[in-house]
Amino acid sequence: MAQLADCLFCKIVVGDVPATAVRETDRVVAFRDINPQAPTHVLVIPKEHYANADELAAADADLTAEVITQAAAVAADEGVDVSGYRIVFNTGAGAGQSVFHVHAHVLGGRDLTWPPG
Ligand code: AMP
Repeated sequence: MAQLADCLFCKIVVGDVPATAVRETDRVVAFRDINPQAPTHVLVIPKEHYANADELAAADADLTAEVITQAAAVAADEGVDVSGYRIVFNTGAGAGQSVFHVHAHVLGGRDLTWPPG
């Protein structure tokens, strides 16, 4: 599996950095965000390293689908599927991406209507 030695989320995948995992499959892991922006804030990542959603989608459609399927399963597990939740892939520094291992933010448990107000 392709991984980067200096990637924070690759280190979470192999257990070198601790995280609170909530779901795991052979190819995907979901863990709680360390700085939650909503009552539910979980990150869903492929175990294999891809820098962002563009790279992942271009390389592996099945894995892209699995990340989204697992994001939906997290929302159901967390009980936010009925009230509504947001799946966000920040893609590129200009969009606020700070960790360059693709991750889906699953946010729920508060009002997330957009635009606010
Ligand atoms: P982004 O800005 O879209 O790249 O999101 C990166 C997310 O990773 C942020 O919401 C951070 O709070 C989160 N994060 C950074 N370090 C950790 C960590 N060690 N464990 C869990 N989440 C983290």
